Amino acid sequence: MTGRTRRLGVVAVAAVAALVVGQAGATAAPGDPGSPSYTQGSSGIGDAYFPLTGNGGIDVTHYDLTLHYTPPAPAPAPLEGALKATASIDLIPTRDLDQFNLDLRGLTATGVSVDGSPTSFTQVPNELVITPRPKLRANRPVKVVVQYGGRTTRPTDIEGALYGWVTTRDGAMVANEPEAAATWYPVNDHPLDKATYDFHVTVPQGLVAVANGRLLGQKTTRGWTTWNWDAPDKMASYLATASVGNFDLKKYTAPNGVPIIDAIDRDLDPTASAGLAQQGEMIVYFASLFGPYPFNSYGAIVDDDSLGYALETQTRPIYSLRARESTVAHELSHQWLGNAVSPGRWQDIWLNEGWATYAAWLWAEHDGGATTQSQFDSVMQAPATDPFWDLEIADPGAAHLFADPVYDRGGATLHALRAKVGSRTFFRIARQWVSRYDDSTATTEDFEALATEISGQDLEAFFDVWVHTTGKPTSW
Ligand SMILES: [Zn+2]
Repeated sequence: MTGRTRRLGVVAVAAVAALVVGQAGATAAPGDPGSPSYTQGSSGIGDAYFPLTGNGGIDVTHYDLTLHYTPPAPAPAPLEGALKATASIDLIPTRDLDQFNLDLRGLTATGVSVDGSPTSFTQVPNELVITPRPKLRANRPVKVVVQYGGRTTRPTDIEGALYGWVTTRDGAMVANEPEAAATWYPVNDHPLDKATYDFHVTVPQGLVAVANGRLLGQKTTRGWTTWNWDAPDKMASYLATASVGNFDLKKYTAPNGVPIIDAIDRDLDPTASAGLAQQGEMIVYFASLFGPYPFNSYGAIVDDDSLGYALETQTRPIYSLRARESTVAHELSHQWLGNAVSPGRWQDIWLNEGWATYAAWLWAEHDGGATTQSQFDSVMQAPATDPFWDLEIADPGAAHLFADPVYDRGGATLHALRAKVGSRTFFRIARQWVSRYDDSTATTEDFEALATEISGQDLEAFFDVWVHTTGKPTSW
């Protein structure tokens, strides 16, 4: 992500507290007295920052999402759409279950089946609670089909930023970080449970629906067009999109063969997408630093509405109003650093944003702009008394995931690490980071262990100073 209005401060603590309270009564509980091996899957996956996000007891392998979307009527009609959808979810119980949850927020489930048998379910805030009969056996895959729908609006996160299925006048901008996939499909909404996806999105003829991965084709019947996309590379739910708008699709190929589809709103001035011109070269450059491009396709979505930020949605980042070159470099580098390797906990967000910040510095230097050293120096110009240094970036708090220090102190941390271990070792760490944790997640501790292993240096004091404490680093 880039471009959020990011500041330090006490934000929406009440909202976090409300989530914790909302969890009461829905946590893991013992199973039926008559069948002690069966338990209820928990309502959260165990992320301290977002207790209700994700769920325990299940491992989703694939989501097949069939969405029928009616955008808002022209102004002055309310900015509300209508979604009618079916999610077909392949999952594996990780233990014997007599009940399990999926995250679903603001939409109403109208039917649930498990392996074709209608199943009872209830909804509580943020959670779809499913009670399968027969009960689920550990490690035996099942297909859960949820029919659901409702009114779409413009959801906001605990900082007040738009996210999730954000209804626009001509469609929707869909960007889920950190836990808003649940605003448009039933989901185990945490990076720890990556899955593959298929999308079948039906919109009024003339509009274009753009999701992750490859465009398999589209078909128009009686004034409605269904757009079919598939994303066969594992993906964290916060990186899924199915944005809808007045898009022109531009198809071309990067110099290394990666197929690119850009979706650019027809109402935007051509300069709005000028920053996309070097995407192909950026893919080649980042592949030379971080290893082969990790997915089967790429491209951008540039919409004429605004979320207030850009997000690195997998294979297809989404931009608000304009795609600036430095932002494009940032979001593209996230495909390796954030998307192939995702944070194991939301507190590890600096590994996403610090790396993408540093990658954008590297691109600028490669492209003849500011050097990485000068970018580092400008971060370090902030005096020790500046509140910029008051955040512990390896544990920033749920309300500060996208605060400036997570990005800039994070980028500076990586530059300082490069100075400490040497460029050759630093980029070996980077490549090994991506290859070792590809299609998976990792934590700050994992990164420290890898850097220590590859450099052969004791880096404990280094990481303590840069990421585990507040205060301006003065020596390392
Ligand atoms: Zn970012």
